[in-house]
Amino acid sequence: MDDCIFCKIARGEIPCYKVYEDDDVLAFLDLSQTTKGHTLVIPKNHYDNFLFVPKDIVSKVFGAAQKIAQAQVASLGAEGINILNNTNSVAGQTVMHFHVHVIPRYGEADKLKIEFMSNKIEKINLPAVAEEISKKL
Ligand code: 5GP
Ligand code: ZN
Repeated sequence: MDDCIFCKIARGEIPCYKVYEDDDVLAFLDLSQTTKGHTLVIPKNHYDNFLFVPKDIVSKVFGAAQKIAQAQVASLGAEGINILNNTNSVAGQTVMHFHVHVIPRYGEADKLKIEFMSNKIEKINLPAVAEEISKKL
């Protein structure tokens, strides 16, 4: 994609701080560095988001994410990792080229808050929702 910033990074037209590269995958430091070492893992080919990525590429991207997480623990002393993907703008995706965030965590000191709170808007019928999802699989 001509005007996609991550395609430009993958083609070497925009610089990045590269962490990992193979034939299909590139990983580089996120400019925002929510914590030290925050890394983005992308397929070199363009897919708008997680919903459209072929299974073998999903597997390669997450395989690289695991290696990077292990290296963040070994090199930076991270005590934990958040793996995050935002799919579509409603979920916070701002760059429309599939990517996985690998975010090292350092305890209280890293000041990052990612919170999952119980749904307070509607009462969810768990068996019905599980059935609805699973019948589309
Ligand atoms: P999203 O919100 O789409 O899940 O995440 C996009 C991420 O890309 C953001 O965390 C942002 O800091 C990062 N980002 C945006 N533009 C660039 C760039 O040109 N270079 C790098 N390294 N990161 C970028
Ligand atoms: Zn792209």
